[in-house]
Formats: sequence, structure tokens, C-alpha cells
Amino acid sequence: MESKEKFQVLLYYNYVHMEDPEAFADEHLKYCKDLGLKGRILVAEEGINGTVSGTVEQTNKYMEDMHNDPRFADMTFKVDESEGHAFKKMHVRPRPELVTLRLEDDINPKEVTGNYLSPQEFYEAMKDDNTVVLDARNDYEYDLGHFRGAIRPDIETFRELPEWVKENKDKLEGKKVITYCTGGIRCEKFSGWLVKEGFEDVGQLHGGIVTYGQDPKVQGELWDGQLYVFDERISVPVNRKEHVVVGKDYFDGKPCERYVNCADPDCNKQILCSEENEHKYMRGCTHECRVSPRNMYVEEHNLSQEEIEARLKRIEMEDEVTQ
Ligand SMILES: [Zn+2]
Repeated sequence: MESKEKFQVLLYYNYVHMEDPEAFADEHLKYCKDLGLKGRILVAEEGINGTVSGTVEQTNKYMEDMHNDPRFADMTFKVDESEGHAFKKMHVRPRPELVTLRLEDDINPKEVTGNYLSPQEFYEAMKDDNTVVLDARNDYEYDLGHFRGAIRPDIETFRELPEWVKENKDKLEGKKVITYCTGGIRCEKFSGWLVKEGFEDVGQLHGGIVTYGQDPKVQGELWDGQLYVFDERISVPVNRKEHVVVGKDYFDGKPCERYVNCADPDCNKQILCSEENEHKYMRGCTHECRVSPRNMYVEEHNLSQEEIEARLKRIEMEDEVTQ
């Protein structure tokens, strides 16, 4: 009857000094496994960042136990309902830092960070003409969904963000700059870095997009598309009032919210792609990925060499017309 049971996904972080991250990680992994949780937790000297899934009972017990630890007494858990586990395994890993920004001097968010904005305050700030909304996530996360009018920094990963800001200072100067990310942890550092760089009016979405989507007042308004999440659900809804699709199919540009990984394991690039195009392109993002001897789509569908040739031919013929 386990499949009928209700599950929850927790997302949380806390910047707090951890004496011995490695010893904590070992012990915590054992504890999480005994409890029956699955998920990914990072531990560093600067704190903890985790996301785990389990039954309502298991996850509630976890939150209670964590809150009884003075280091995590004030930690906020974002709680989402789920159909089952959102992870396959349980990992707890020691890391040098919780989020990676290529900074000369690391930022301690306990000392310097942007103003915390509640979902309501963030919503009001977005509507102000003098506000610049900056997405502090990776490009593939933005492509699936983002706040209406938010800037998508032309970067591949979050750690390139400081460099991008330095090159695009004119877009931000004299403005109110507000930042957002999935659960808030990246903005703690990034907004702190913006303050340190000399930007005077910097705000961050407290609790991130997850909290914004659950706020009963704003109900996710001004969010377009879906929220990319780092577990097996891949995406979750945010805007409860309207659903505008912003994702575009990698191959034909049509509206699409379906993420797949390129079938060539050496590439593994995440692309938005319809089921139809997945079959047409054998889930390969380039010709090289399609013909790779390790292409997993070919294996999964047991394609003969003739069938592969036929599909490549079709791509060649049809795409010649459109390109
Ligand atoms: Zn590829």
C-alpha cells in the first residue's frame, strides 16, 4: 500500500558555521537512510543545503529533528507534495562551498546580503518601472520558465554571473536591482556580492520561486512557464492564475515544456523537445550525437542500421526546406 501514501519534497538551506562537514556528512547520511529519506544534501563549513523526499511522516520527523539542533533551529523548510520519492538515492556530500560563484573574496551572507523581499514585496517591486529583475539561475532553468520581463544573463552557469554583471553595469546602474532563484540560496550570495560591488538598492526574493508560488496572495502571478527543479519531477507549476508557455522546442521552436537529455551520454545536454521530435531526431542534439555509437535512444528502441539511415535522411530532407 506504500504507493498510496502521501509524500513530500523538502528544500532547505542554512548559512551556519559547521565545525566538521565531513564527519557531519557521514553521520547525517546514516541518519537519513535509517529514516527512509532519499535526496541530495551538501554540507560545507559555511552551512547546509538540501533537498529530500519521503513520506509525510518521515519528512515531518526530519524537520522536527533538524529544528531540535540549535544550528538549524530557525531553518525554513519549503514543503511540496509529491506522488512518491523525487530521488533514486540518498547522498550527503561534504563540499568546499554551498554555491559556486567565481569570486575573489567569498561572500558571507550573514554579513552582507540584499534586502529580503517577501513574495508580496517582490511582486510590487517587479511592477515598478525603475526595477531590473535579474534571474540568478542557469540558462536552461530560465528557458523553461521565469518572471515576466526578467533579464536572462547570457551565461551558461550561475558562477559566470559576476563576470556578466561587470560587463553589463550600464543596464543596472541607478536602478533597483532584484534577484531571484529556486529556493533563495544562490541569491543570498549573489545579492550580497551586488551590494559589495556598490549597487545601492538590491533586493532578493526571500525563499525563492518555490515560496513565491505557494504564497496565497500573489499565487505565482507574473511567472511565465514552469519552474525547473533538481529532482525527478524536473518541473513544477508556479503561477496558479494563468499558465503561459515560454519554453521552446529545441528543434522547431514550437511551445514546449518537456525536458529530455541528449541520448549521447558523452553530451547529455538538456533540451526541450516534443515526443515527436524526440523520435525524429533520435533524441540527439546534433548530428554527431545522433550517430554516436553510444546513442541510448538507438539502444532503447532497438533501431536497425536501416532505420537510423532512414531517419537521418528524413532530417536532411525536411530540415533543408526550413533552414
Ligand atoms: Zn548532444
